[in-house]
Amino acid sequence: MSSEIPRITILGSLNMDLVAYVPHHPHPGETLTANSFATSPGGKGSNQAVACAKLSRSPSTLSSPSAAVSMVGAVGSDPYGSQLIQNLTNYGIDASHVTSLPDTKTGIALIVVEAATGQNRIIISGEANHLVTVASQEEKNWEWLDGVDLLIMQLEIPLETVVTAVEKAREKGVAVLLNPAPAQKLPEGVYKGLAHLIVNETEAAILGEIDESELDTLEGLERVSKKFLERGVENFLVTLGGRGVYYMDKKGNKGLVEAEKVKVVDTTAAGDTFVGRYALEVVKGDEKFDIAAAVKLANKAAAKTVEREGAAEAIPWRDEVA
Ligand code: ATP
Repeated sequence: MSSEIPRITILGSLNMDLVAYVPHHPHPGETLTANSFATSPGGKGSNQAVACAKLSRSPSTLSSPSAAVSMVGAVGSDPYGSQLIQNLTNYGIDASHVTSLPDTKTGIALIVVEAATGQNRIIISGEANHLVTVASQEEKNWEWLDGVDLLIMQLEIPLETVVTAVEKAREKGVAVLLNPAPAQKLPEGVYKGLAHLIVNETEAAILGEIDESELDTLEGLERVSKKFLERGVENFLVTLGGRGVYYMDKKGNKGLVEAEKVKVVDTTAAGDTFVGRYALEVVKGDEKFDIAAAVKLANKAAAKTVEREGAAEAIPWRDEVA
């Protein structure tokens, strides 16, 4: 580790979530009255940064986190943009590499949450996130990667930027955790030496070129996980929603951890919480990292998030999952 307090950097998206809580998902052509509506900071990148930050500190000790968290990305020059940056700094996240772009809109996500099941349907309009290009980071000389212990990325910014960041991280000896959401096929070169790949069922199916039903059995999960390890991934995890998580690493550790039994209110940011809590275990260093323990802690933290409405605000603080 390069510093006493490990450094986690998230390169990814920031969106304003516009959330409607509905009695049921609307049918084609149906106009539905929502039970309630809320706007809240979101975007997979921002949510994962908030998850790392909140889960590394308690609200009463904002100044003594177990990890230093930074965010790299872009917002527009509208009020949503400044609200999203403010949200990061409120949680003690370094937002100095979140660029505010003139004449550009901030990314938004239209989210519909069904009251009875907590299941969500999401439409994203990426806007400023699309402008997190390779050129924009070349301009910064990728300097923000120096001294970072773990780089976390998703796929809500251009794929080319993610692929290039993987290469740059490799050159600089920075470990990468990739959460390839929303799912799209990746160039084969990304997998080689990738420290952590965390996918949900849809992503596992698309990236693994399998039918999602293969994930229904332990044998199927094992088979799919092996495929990713053969491609060069060191630690592979597939989150299975209410079923829990399956993991396998190149050392031979593997297992299914069942989901906590909780009342599901809203699953938004459950996966992001999982990533954040897991990342905090990763940056403890290779000697201390225990994948089974990390998965259990992450599974617990994610369960807390599904019990509450919203994204950033639903993610628990460290003390709440201690
Ligand atoms: P999202 O995009 O909504 O953040 P995701 O699709 O990336 O989520 P999921 O596999 O749905 O990820 O969930 C991530 C983790 O959250 C699960 O592995 C589990 O730990 C926890 N989780 C999700 N749903 C439930 C549930 N119904 N009960 C308990 N835990 C859950």
